[in-house]
Amino acid sequence: MDKFHIVVCIKVVPKPEEIAVDKETMLLIRDGVRSEINPPDMNAIEMALKLKDKYGGKISILSMGPPFFADYLRVPLAMGADHIYLMSDRNFGGADTLATTYTLAEGIRKIGDVDMVICGEESSDGATGQVPAGLAEWLGINQLTQMDEVDIDLRGKVARGKREIAGGHISLEVPFPVVVSAKTASNEPRFMDYTIKPWAFEEGRITVWGAEDVEVEDDHIGLPGSPTIVSGLEQAPERARKRQFLEGSPEEIADQLGKILVQAL
Ligand SMILES: Cc1cc2nc3c(=O)[nH]c(=O)nc-3n(C[C@H](O)[C@H](O)[C@H](O)COP(=O)(O)OP(=O)(O)OC[C@H]3O[C@@H](n4cnc5c(N)ncnc54)[C@H](O)[C@@H]3O)c2cc1C
Repeated sequence: MDKFHIVVCIKVVPKPEEIAVDKETMLLIRDGVRSEINPPDMNAIEMALKLKDKYGGKISILSMGPPFFADYLRVPLAMGADHIYLMSDRNFGGADTLATTYTLAEGIRKIGDVDMVICGEESSDGATGQVPAGLAEWLGINQLTQMDEVDIDLRGKVARGKREIAGGHISLEVPFPVVVSAKTASNEPRFMDYTIKPWAFEEGRITVWGAEDVEVEDDHIGLPGSPTIVSGLEQAPERARKRQFLEGSPEEIADQLGKILVQAL
C-alpha cells in the first residue's frame, strides 16, 4: 500500500455571534462577517494528524466555498497537513447538502487514491450533519460516524472507531476506504507549527478547482442540483427570564435560595 492518504473536509463558517440569514433569499449572509474554521473540523484535522504522527502518510484538506475560504485553509497546512484543495466557483453556489456532497465527492475522486475521509460531525451554521453520510453514499464506501477515536490497521486495511454512548462505548471496524466523522471536542487540536507557518502562507500553496476542473454534471451542482427549498424562517421565541437579588447575611441568602429552589421543584 502507498502512503496512507486522508482527506479532511473542512468548512469555513460565520462566527456564531455573527450568523444572520438574508430574509429574501433565505441564505446565510457571508459578506462582511467574521468567520472561523467550523470548530468540529478542527477535531477532524487533529484526528487525521494523530494518525499521520503514528503511521506516516499524507493529509489533503478539501473545502467547497468562496475564494475567501483560502486564508483559513492555510491553518491546517501550518498544523501539519500536506495539500489544500478549494472547490470554488459561482456555479457551486446555493448548494444544499445533496449538491454539496456530490461536488465534494467528485473533488475527492479527482484528488484520488484516498483511504480515509474525515469530516466534523456537523457544521455550526447548517448543522444538518448530513455531509459525512452523503459523501459515503456518493463514493459508495463505508462510514464511521460521530467517532471519539479512530485507529487503523494498515496490514488488515481496516479502520477501527470508538463512539461513546450513555454508559459505555461502541467499537466499530470497517475496511478502507472509509468516511469518518469526528465528534465535537473529541480531542484537543494542536496549535499551528510556527516553523511551518511561513511555508503554509506562501503563494501557490492552494489548488483551486472550478466546475470546469472536475467531472461534474451541471444539473447536479449549485442551485440546479439542490432540491431543498427553505420555505420559512422564524425567530425562536425568547424565554422569559426572572432576575431576583437576594439580600442579607450569607446564611440568610442561602436560606432564601433553598426556599426558592424547593418552590421551583
Ligand atoms: C437551498 C439552500 C441553498 C444554500 N446555499 C448555500 C450557499 O449559497 N452557500 C453556502 O455556503 N451554503 C449554502 N447552503 C448551505 C449548504 O447546503 C450547507 O452549508 C452544506 O450543504 C453543508 O451542510 P451542513 O452545513 O449542514 O454540513 P454538516 O453535514 O452539518 O457538516 C458536517 C461536516 O461536513 C463537512 N463539510 C460541510 N460543508 C462542507 C464544505 N462546504 N466543504 C468541505 N467540507 C464540508 C465538514 O467536515 C463538516 O464538519 C444552502 C442550503 C440550502 C438548503
